[in-house]
Amino acid sequence: MTYRVIALDLDGTLLDRQKRILPESLAVLAEAKRLFPTKKVKYVVNTHPHFDHVAGLVAFIPEGITVITDDNNKFFVEAAFSEPRTLLDDGLARKKKAPKVEGVIDDFVLKDATRELRLHHVDDLEHSEGMLIAYLPAERILFTADFDPPLKGRAVDASIPILLKTLDRLKIDFDRHVTVHPLTPDHLMTRDELLALGRAAEKPAQE
Ligand SMILES: [Zn+2]
Ligand SMILES: [Zn+2]
Repeated sequence: MTYRVIALDLDGTLLDRQKRILPESLAVLAEAKRLFPTKKVKYVVNTHPHFDHVAGLVAFIPEGITVITDDNNKFFVEAAFSEPRTLLDDGLARKKKAPKVEGVIDDFVLKDATRELRLHHVDDLEHSEGMLIAYLPAERILFTADFDPPLKGRAVDASIPILLKTLDRLKIDFDRHVTVHPLTPDHLMTRDELLALGRAAEKPAQE
C-alpha cells in the first residue's frame, strides 16, 4: 500500500501518518532530516490510534521526538510505548526511552513566523473517537487519514459527510485534500471532488 507523508519546515515539525513497517518510518525520518538538515525534528503527528497509523511511532520516540495525538489516545500511546519490548530489536527496545506525548483536546496550532499547522479533533466519528485532521492555511492543504473515496462499486463511507460538517464548522478553506492512503497516488483530491463525494453519500440507497 502507498502512504503519503508531509514534512514541514516549521521550526522542526514532521507531520506524518505513521508507517506500519519500521524501515519505512525510519526512511521518513531520514528523509525529513535530509530535507531540513539544520533543523531538529521536534514533533510527529499521529492522526488516530489504528495500528497502521501508530506502529511506526517506534521510529520517532527513541529520538526524543514528541508525539502529538488526539487527547483520547494520549493514555494509549503512552502506555503502548512504555511497555517492555522484548520481541523486536528496534530502536525503542534498545534505548528504552519514555514516550513524550501531547494530547489535542479540540484544536491545536503549531506555527512559526511564516507557516502554520492546525490540528482539529473530529467529533461523532464511528471510525475512531480519537481522530485528528490537519490543515495548512497558507498552502490551503487539508491532510486526513482514513476519509477515503470508496472502492469501485462501493457506497461512500458515512465518515465523509462528518468530515464535511467538521470542515464547515471550522471554516476550513482548502484547495487540495491529501489523503494518507491514496487510491490514485499521482492525483491529489480537490475540494470539488470531496464535495461531490459528500453529495453522493447523502443520496438515498435506492437511487
Ligand atoms: Zn483508521
Ligand atoms: Zn489507515
